[in-house]
Amino acid sequence: MTTADTRIQGIGMTSARTRDRLVQRLREQGINNEAVLGQICNVPRHLFMDEAMASRAYEDTALPIGHGQTISQPYVVALMTQALLEDGRPEKVLEIGSGCGYQTAILAPLVGKLYAIERLAPLQVRARNILASLNLRGIRMRVGDGWKGWAAEAPFDGILVAAAPEVVPEALLQQLADGGRLIIPVGGRASQELIKISRKGSAFETQSLGAVRFVPLVGGGDS
Ligand code: SAH
Repeated sequence: MTTADTRIQGIGMTSARTRDRLVQRLREQGINNEAVLGQICNVPRHLFMDEAMASRAYEDTALPIGHGQTISQPYVVALMTQALLEDGRPEKVLEIGSGCGYQTAILAPLVGKLYAIERLAPLQVRARNILASLNLRGIRMRVGDGWKGWAAEAPFDGILVAAAPEVVPEALLQQLADGGRLIIPVGGRASQELIKISRKGSAFETQSLGAVRFVPLVGGGDS
């Protein structure tokens, strides 16, 4: 194995065995999409965080990544990805709050084209480098305000949001294709609910996926 292979495949607390245990845990919690579980096993989560944290990378927990942000909990990443893929493979997907890029890496091979927006430039730069080192393709990334979506590329078959607004941003509903789905946590600091919104023509159906805790989606449309 080359040094690069060793880095990606991991050793000790980042090894295949440690990752298998995480996958087993997610299965027990109801994640049953094999493509999603395969990605949780394959994507080296330890590369998306500081080396000091790497030994905890395959714990099912959110961890700090600097700039006051976190890398999402694997269970929640898996749950959101599974919900996004439920009605088939979405061709065009928008991800908001891509942060360190872990969710981006899980998602990219499972969808057609992926568009990712992150507010903080330093996180975006780091994510871009890691994703490139993993040879992930079909991803367009930009720094911007997720409240506004990505109008020039709309409509999207799927939109996944990894930070919580108090109300669903109107622009995201507008940028959802007919038959598309939006997976988004909604609520304040005290309590949030993960919801799936499916668009059927001009109607929007909402389904709850349970309680979650995300950092706030900063701004509010006009900021
Ligand atoms: N998806 C990441 C977790 C990101 S945490 C993972 O896979 O681990 C949420 C991210 O949303 C943070 O990086 C934060 O900077 C970003 N964010 C917050 N408000 C935003 C906004 N209005 N537009 C874009 N990104 C935003």
